[in-house]
Amino acid sequence: NATLLTGSAPTRARFSFEVFPARSGAAALALGHAVQHLSAAGPDFISVTYGANGSNRDASLDLLRYLRDHTDALPLAHLTTVGETREAVRATIHGIMDAGVHDFLALRGDPPRGSTEADPLVSGSLSALELTELIAEARAERPALTSVGRTAVAAYPNGHPMSRSRSEDLDWLVAKQEAGAQFAITQLFFEAEEYLSFVSDARDAGLRIPVLPGLMPVSTSAQLRKVASLAGRPAPVLLERALEEAGGYAPELGVEHTIRLAGELLAGGAPSVHLYTFNRHEQVLAVLRELNLLAPVG
Ligand code: FAD
Repeated sequence: NATLLTGSAPTRARFSFEVFPARSGAAALALGHAVQHLSAAGPDFISVTYGANGSNRDASLDLLRYLRDHTDALPLAHLTTVGETREAVRATIHGIMDAGVHDFLALRGDPPRGSTEADPLVSGSLSALELTELIAEARAERPALTSVGRTAVAAYPNGHPMSRSRSEDLDWLVAKQEAGAQFAITQLFFEAEEYLSFVSDARDAGLRIPVLPGLMPVSTSAQLRKVASLAGRPAPVLLERALEEAGGYAPELGVEHTIRLAGELLAGGAPSVHLYTFNRHEQVLAVLRELNLLAPVG
C-alpha cells in the first residue's frame, strides 16, 4: 500500500485488523467465519498474534496459512524473540517466509507467565530492533523476494513499560526505523491526544514512518480492564460505569467509544486505523461502517 509507505494523504482512510489463533475447535470455526467477513471488508492486512498470553506458536502459522489460502487478505505475522535463540528465531522467520508470508510485526514479546523482565531468559532475548535486522537479513538471502513484504514494530504512546521517559521511547522507536522498520503499530490507548502528541513528538525526533493507531472496541468490563492495563492508563470513567450498569456486557458502548476515538484520530492526521478484533467481526465492521470507511457494496 503506497500511502502507508510514503505517508502521503490517502483519499479514503485505510484500516487493518488483528486476530489471534483460536484455542478450541469451536473457536476455530467461529474465527474462520469472522475472518471471511473481515477479509471481505478489504483491509490493508490482517495481523496474527504470536505466543500472546501463552498461546500455541504453531497455531499462529496455521492461521497465517488459513488467511493465505482461504481469504483475499494480506496476512501479517507477529513474531517474538522472548526465550528463543538467534538460530531458532532465524529458522522461524524462514518458516514463515516459506509459507508465503512476508510481512512481519517484529516484537520482543511479553515475559512468559511466571517470569519477569529481570529473568535472564527475558532480558537476554533479542530485542525488536535486532529482530527487525534479522528479518531484513532473511529477505536479503532471497534476492527474488527482497522487495516483497514490510516490517512493522510496536510503538507506545503512553510509554513502554520499561521506559523512564518520553525521549527514551522516541529514541527507541527511531532506532527501530533505522533498523529497517517501515511502519509502527501502537499499543492500545483511550484518548486521541495521547496518540497525536506522541506522533508529533516522534516526528520532531526524526520519525518518518507511518504510525498506525491500535484500537479495540471493548464489549465487556473485563476487556476494558485488560485494555487499561496495556494502555497504562485508567479506563474512561463514563465508559467503565456504563458497562457496569449494563451488567458488564455491552458491545455497542465499545463501538461508540471507538467510533469517536477513530474519528478524532483520522481528523488529526492518522493514516489508518488498526483494529484489534478480539476475533469478532461485528464490532469492528460497525465502527468502519459508521466512519464511512467501507467501500460501497456492489
Ligand atoms: P522491544 O522494543 O524490543 O523492547 C524490549 C526491551 O527493550 C525492553 O525490555 C527494554 O530493555 C528495551 N526498551 C524498549 N523500549 C524502551 C524504552 N522506551 N525505554 C527503555 N527501554 C526500552 N506480545 C506477544 O507476545 N505476542 C504478540 O503477538 C504481541 N503483539 C503485539 C502487538 C502490538 C501492536 C503491541 C504494541 C504489542 C504486542 N505484544 C505482543 C506485546 C509486546 O511483545 C510487549 O509489549 C513487549 O514487552 C515489548 O515488545 P517490543 O517489541 O516493544 O520490545
